[in-house]
Amino acid sequence: MQARKKDKMEENIITIEDVKASIRNIPDYPKKGIQFKDLTTAIKQPEIFHFLIEEISAMYMGRGITKVVGIESRGFILGGALAARLGAGFVPIRKPNKLPAERYSVNYMLEYGEDSIEIHKDAIEPGEIILLHDDLLATGGTSKAALELLSHFNPEDIYLNFIVELNFLNGRKVVGDDYDISSMVHF
Ligand code: AMP
Repeated sequence: MQARKKDKMEENIITIEDVKASIRNIPDYPKKGIQFKDLTTAIKQPEIFHFLIEEISAMYMGRGITKVVGIESRGFILGGALAARLGAGFVPIRKPNKLPAERYSVNYMLEYGEDSIEIHKDAIEPGEIILLHDDLLATGGTSKAALELLSHFNPEDIYLNFIVELNFLNGRKVVGDDYDISSMVHF
């Protein structure tokens, strides 16, 4: 089995459909009505993990990306690997009171209640080209808040990338048409 999987990776015959099939759906988690897309079943497979890193980094190669910004916490899983592949630095956007130095902060609405995220004030220089990465685009609230944080830095360009996009929630509309958004897998 292991040998067969290794062959598949070396022959580069993993497909987006394989990735899609490797994602586990958990109904009614964390609350009733939510179809939770569990990526742990995808990324625990070396050939899928490798495929995601190679495919996503290839998409952004040559675009001059200087920073990959990952959103806590699932945006960190691929974020660091993508930064390494792209020759970029990695910047974390974190939940409140985790970052030790001076930071920008933004509040945003969740389905119930609100939350906030933060970034260090010295994380990015003006004119940088940013790849904002998270595991999943749902309603777009988190990404919109992250973009608000990034607006403090006057970047030259911002690309957005997700492993999964839940099309029916229209997060793309919330993020806005001005942005280049790409997702590997759509539900
Ligand atoms: P949103 O702000 O609605 O776009 O939600 C995006 C964030 O919430 C991402 O960081 C996801 O990890 C998480 N998330 C939202 N909905 C789901 C879902 N159905 N399955 C897995 N993760 C989700």
